[in-house]
Amino acid sequence: MSAKIIRGTEIREEILEELAREVENLKKRHGRPPGLVTILIGENPASVSYVKNKIRTAKRLGFKEVQENLTTTVAEKDLLDMIRRYNEDDTIDGILVQLPLPGHIDENRVLMAIDPDKDVDGFHPVNVGRLVIGGDAVKFPPCTPAGIVEMIIRAGVETRGAEVVVIGRSNIVGKPVACMMMQKGRGGNATVTVVHTGTKDLASHCLRADILIVAAGVPDLIKAEWIKPGACVIDVGVNRVGLMTDPKTGEEKALLRGDVDFEAASHVAGFLTPVPGGVGPMTITMLMKNTLASMKYRTEPRK
Ligand code: NAP
Repeated sequence: MSAKIIRGTEIREEILEELAREVENLKKRHGRPPGLVTILIGENPASVSYVKNKIRTAKRLGFKEVQENLTTTVAEKDLLDMIRRYNEDDTIDGILVQLPLPGHIDENRVLMAIDPDKDVDGFHPVNVGRLVIGGDAVKFPPCTPAGIVEMIIRAGVETRGAEVVVIGRSNIVGKPVACMMMQKGRGGNATVTVVHTGTKDLASHCLRADILIVAAGVPDLIKAEWIKPGACVIDVGVNRVGLMTDPKTGEEKALLRGDVDFEAASHVAGFLTPVPGGVGPMTITMLMKNTLASMKYRTEPRK
């Protein structure tokens, strides 16, 4: 068997084109585009690169993009005051504070300060609760899990009645994606098992999976022998395993590997995502989708 490769880079383009059309319509109806503010503290290279991508994508869609760059010496109170100002700003629909934060700032207090109706990352406990309730209660599904579900749907993989196995139980990937896939409705109605380091016999669970979602952060954890023939395998892992020279720019950059042995898995799986170019590009795309949705909730409330 040769797996169909599900490319996030291609699905991202489809979705961004759909969103760009919606932005134009919103601007016509309300005289303004969606507004997103990103607050970056310090110069952590991974955060800087992620924020750059966010800005580029927001600008491409014609969003109002506000970038706040703060130094690592910023006082927690000043950061909280800034968040409160954006909570009150009617031209801003999404507020995003890039994690991790410097040690002297309480991450929980910062996330709790964001208005849940502008929390487009979906990390505020109110939005976690909405996700668990499901259906119309959901406002901002967290971006990486939402991207995973969207990829599965757009690849044409049936989730209803499927055995889904999720490896990992983090708050940003494993738990929310498991929650989304067990709900009734589009991209859900699956029978979900979540496995982790306390699980006995990981391989036997993987072998049952019609859809295997791997978010462990362990390079090449999943072997071909653990994959049910024809299964859909979504590799969320991003592991820096060395350095490589970028063939386009000649610059040195991180060599990435996923959690799945891609080459071997491609002979067994029916569908497979690559790393890089799989789940990664979907995260920022879904952030844009949430920001646009936020403007719609505010300007065109559901009856
Ligand atoms: P995390 O917080 O470190 O959680 C990893 C989870 O995997 C934990 O629940 C852990 O179990 C489980 N695990 C680790 N090793 C395992 C093993 N050998 N067998 C079974 N379970 C195992 O990681 P995360 O934030 O969810 O991220 C996971 C991976 O996805 C990372 O590589 C990260 O870089 C990547 N990621 C990618 C994106 C993207 O946009 N593409 C976004 C987020 C994360 P315990 O709970 O028992 O410790």
